[in-house]
Amino acid sequence: MSRFENHVTHLECSKTGQRYEAGEVHGLSDAGKPLLVRYDLDALARSIDKKTLKNRTGGFWRYREFLPVRHDENIIRLGEEMTPLARCHHLEKDHGITGEILVKDEGRLPTGSFKARGLAMAVAMAKELGISRIAMPTNGNAGAALSAYGAQAGMECFIFCPADTPDTNVREIAMQGAKVYRVNGLIDDCGKLVGAGKEPMGWFDFSTLKEPYRIEGKKTMGLELAEQLGWQVPDVIFYPTGGGTGLIGMWKAFDELEKIGWIGSKRPRMVAVQAAGCAPIVKAWEDGADHAPRWENAHTVAAGIRVPQAVGDFLILDAVRTSNGFAIAVEDDAIEDARARCAARDGVLLCPETAATLAAYEQALQDGRVGRDERVVLFNCGSGLKYPMPDKSITLDKDAPMDWDSFGK
Ligand SMILES: *Cc1c(COP(=O)(O)O)cnc(C)c1O
Repeated sequence: MSRFENHVTHLECSKTGQRYEAGEVHGLSDAGKPLLVRYDLDALARSIDKKTLKNRTGGFWRYREFLPVRHDENIIRLGEEMTPLARCHHLEKDHGITGEILVKDEGRLPTGSFKARGLAMAVAMAKELGISRIAMPTNGNAGAALSAYGAQAGMECFIFCPADTPDTNVREIAMQGAKVYRVNGLIDDCGKLVGAGKEPMGWFDFSTLKEPYRIEGKKTMGLELAEQLGWQVPDVIFYPTGGGTGLIGMWKAFDELEKIGWIGSKRPRMVAVQAAGCAPIVKAWEDGADHAPRWENAHTVAAGIRVPQAVGDFLILDAVRTSNGFAIAVEDDAIEDARARCAARDGVLLCPETAATLAAYEQALQDGRVGRDERVVLFNCGSGLKYPMPDKSITLDKDAPMDWDSFGK
């Protein structure tokens, strides 16, 4: 190689290990399972060191050598930054924590959610492979990220979301140039429309894990987290799990980092958090099953994790089990309570999905599955500002006499 392009050797079926060529358009494997990108890790390790990396800017694109993009001109930038780890000092005090509660605030990314990581990568790869028409089902944030990166890449995007998707998301998607459709169903119903339109519309299916590169984008969460902690992993990661791309991606990141000798064999316990109204992975975990059947009548305030069925279910369950983690469901009341407390106590406004992880963490502290001395990371996957908030303001009449005694009560 005269100059750096990438270190991809091939793609591999996550179930059967069947090999697929890089540089070609792929969806699911012949077995109907997600494809994983494989790299020449020795070459990767020789091409980059921690110090070089440290001096780079550009958010997740800093991990260029770990990524599948071949030509630099296909990289699309909207101002990516490394997302901060916010520490919840007051919540730590409230719970008598001697470890740490860290919130990785992914809401700082372009389009206000961590979907930017996956979709930036998938769009860059689509551009590289000559794809220009894309369709995708979404619960909101993925569509927002696709429309933004797709606009920058000059692609035509068709986005299908459940009718009750948060309004901010739906309008944001349209503003960023995509066609957006509200569908009277859930995200998997939207996914069926995308599948059905493939032939007549000639679009490429960008559904979660049905194209191989979103996972590589989400993988950068694991790389970035380890780097921020001084090439250490935390004790426990609580991840709000819908399609599970982030959990699977981080697990892959830790594996690759260990193989190139940048971290040791310690792994965080991976905890898949779902809402009680839509908990297929939790049920499968409890049943000791490898696959999670569709959850009927799915409902929760946490739109991003309202995913009745996940094509990568077995990969999520495998990471959870291998890491000695667990899967846990929380009620919507607990989600709203945790969201309000975290914002009021520590000034960290979580999205509802992440509030679910806080509620789950608190439950796990109580039942002893997580210790008070452990360093825990909650992923704030989207900006809290994108979701409805209760109105707690008090109306004042400037012309009436003020009842000062009532203030501050
Ligand atoms: C998409 C999304 C999730 C779920 O992420 P997966 O990786 O698909 O499991 C959680 N929270 C928010 C805010 C999301 O947008």
